[in-house]
Amino acid sequence: MFDLDHIAEAIAWRHDLHRHPELGFEEHRTSEMIAGLLTGWGWRVHRGLAGTGVVAQMGQGAPVIGLRADIDALPIVEATGVAHASTIRGKMHACGHDGHTAMLLLAARQIAAEGVEQGTVTLIFQPAEESEGGARVMVEQGLFRQFPVDKVFGIHNWPGLAPGRFVARDDKMMAAFSVFDIEILGKGGHGAMPEQSDGVIAAAGRTAAALQEIPARALSPLEPGVVSVTQIHSGSAYNVCPDRAVLSGTCRWFAPEAGDVIEERVRRVATAEAAAQGCIANIDYQRRYPATINTAPEAALARDVAAEMGLDTAMTGPSMASEDFAFMLNEVPGAYLWLGAAREGENPGLHSAKFDFNDAVLPAGAEFWVRLARRATQG
Ligand SMILES: [Zn+2]
Ligand SMILES: [Zn+2]
Repeated sequence: MFDLDHIAEAIAWRHDLHRHPELGFEEHRTSEMIAGLLTGWGWRVHRGLAGTGVVAQMGQGAPVIGLRADIDALPIVEATGVAHASTIRGKMHACGHDGHTAMLLLAARQIAAEGVEQGTVTLIFQPAEESEGGARVMVEQGLFRQFPVDKVFGIHNWPGLAPGRFVARDDKMMAAFSVFDIEILGKGGHGAMPEQSDGVIAAAGRTAAALQEIPARALSPLEPGVVSVTQIHSGSAYNVCPDRAVLSGTCRWFAPEAGDVIEERVRRVATAEAAAQGCIANIDYQRRYPATINTAPEAALARDVAAEMGLDTAMTGPSMASEDFAFMLNEVPGAYLWLGAAREGENPGLHSAKFDFNDAVLPAGAEFWVRLARRATQG
């Protein structure tokens, strides 16, 4: 579908983005590059949603299809050793959003070359996917009021699947998530005289264990849920019982009722375990992304297009990881898709300091976008 020069150029954009990673809502250079290329190819470009978001349209009238790529990087010190490694220490494209951006740009160039005969193609380059919820901000700032779409699609490269695999589930795709910080406060004292202080450390340890049991005992065994305590900070000396500990972590679920049960239990367990040790617990519990749930007709359309390309669309998943594309799917029918992107040999996962988007799958991802846009706008 693409000539080799255009593929080589898309890989060069990807490497350029990889060298210059930008964190959520700070993607100024990235946004500039995207808008510049799209304008040059004749797209009607709109900037400023969620600050660095770029929306571009071609064609007119119905039907309207939305294609979304996320553009942000992560606060990780890169350890890939590749020639196009990050030039900014502590920031890197460890989730492949550089690849998602280049894939949609390559598709955009092709769509512009072919022209949009019927309907409208809307490209959505979205900032701050990584736990900041750039999709939510774009939606709140009027993304689908200013640019109404009939269907919206997003792709993530998936290193857990071989190239040639493509997954579009009919319903659950990615889990909802929350984050929590639990501050346990009590009286501190000498490590040799525990009877004179409260059990801050004991409360922290028991709370961590009890929190992680919540899904197993409070949810049906048939209902997925996770509570992971990922940080415990307390104490500063061998012989001092501390007066404060902080536990942090994340919860995942699909069904809204499961999310309610988990939150209520986290609060109850933390409060009770602290009280049992003479301490109090201050709980900051924040829900971040809803679950990413595909609509069946749009998932079927995506599978159909992928199968037409010879991709293997066997179902797998869902994943307990989360994705802010959920905010777009809350507004409009559509599907979130995984494109198999495993590497031969060492195959670092998403968010690994050694992860680098697999350029070999870039043309397939872009071709999928072009074919999907064509199919969806032909009604
Ligand atoms: Zn990520
Ligand atoms: Zn990602």
